[in-house]
Amino acid sequence: GDRIRIDKFLSDMNKGTRSEIKDLIRKGRVSINGIPCKKPDEKVDTDSDTVSLDGHIVSYEKYIYLMLNKPAGVVSATKDNKEKTVIDLVKESSRKDIFPVGRLDKDTEGLLILTNDGALAHNLLSPKKEVDKVYYAKVEGKVTAKDVEAFLSGISIGEDELCLPARLEVLVSGDISEVNLTIQEGKFHQVKRMFEAVGKKVIYLKRLSMGGLKLDPTLKPGEYRSLTKDEVKYLK
Ligand code: URA
Repeated sequence: GDRIRIDKFLSDMNKGTRSEIKDLIRKGRVSINGIPCKKPDEKVDTDSDTVSLDGHIVSYEKYIYLMLNKPAGVVSATKDNKEKTVIDLVKESSRKDIFPVGRLDKDTEGLLILTNDGALAHNLLSPKKEVDKVYYAKVEGKVTAKDVEAFLSGISIGEDELCLPARLEVLVSGDISEVNLTIQEGKFHQVKRMFEAVGKKVIYLKRLSMGGLKLDPTLKPGEYRSLTKDEVKYLK
């Protein structure tokens, strides 16, 4: 594994700030391979050394993966001067280096992965990887079989290239229609712009899944949980 300072090891694992950890070390509460640690700059191997705090082993997890049911009203950024961010929702219990995988609009709800694993984020977002993203939408106007065909053959949203073929499943067709839409890209406001292109307005939008990962239906808007090992595997 990586060799890092013991104070970084413990602060990465949420055991306190660097100065709080310095204090823990001074009080003899931290040991490395069974030997009390004396200095906060002592180096440890994240895999092969055994670190304990008050006699309990602390194992080092390099990556963190959370699934958030994003509520409307927060922005998909790590920092914002005015708006509440998705990272603000998980702040106390989490690592400092996490970021949202892609963006949902401020008014969009649903599945958002928060991680510090840049490679995984790239895999999920690159259109070349053809990862399905499924959205549930309520749309003003009657969604018809013609729309389904148009989405499948590639919609123009005013960019150089058409959208990739998208699968539109009509759940309710009426004054307000309800659909599930599967796309493999993530252009700015893509779902809203695709419906705009066929003369309809999205009035509610929620992401249901990304690749093999489905939003946990027990998570209320604003709630989150860690991904299981299996769920992380589905994403890779
Ligand atoms: N498409 C949109 O228009 N908005 C989102 O938040 C996600 C996809």
